[in-house]
Amino acid sequence: MSIAVCRQCGEILRSKHVHDCVQCSCPNHSMLDGGSEYTRKGGVDLSLVQTCLSLSEAKRLSIGITSKLTAPITKGLNAPL
Ligand SMILES: [Zn+2]
Repeated sequence: MSIAVCRQCGEILRSKHVHDCVQCSCPNHSMLDGGSEYTRKGGVDLSLVQTCLSLSEAKRLSIGITSKLTAPITKGLNAPL
């Protein structure tokens, strides 16, 4: 299984098998694919997709990210590209 966390929204992505492509729901569209065979990740900003070795590491990362998101994020969404 491949595990990654979207550093923008804190969503944990888990690809359980080769053709299990998962994507988060934030504007970065972080995605993970490949299961335990290989790891393919993608997203608007690839540096926001953090791969993890374990689910506990992913959860720790996710909690750290989501706790920072208590500030309104709508401002960020309207920022110019
Ligand atoms: Zn996201």
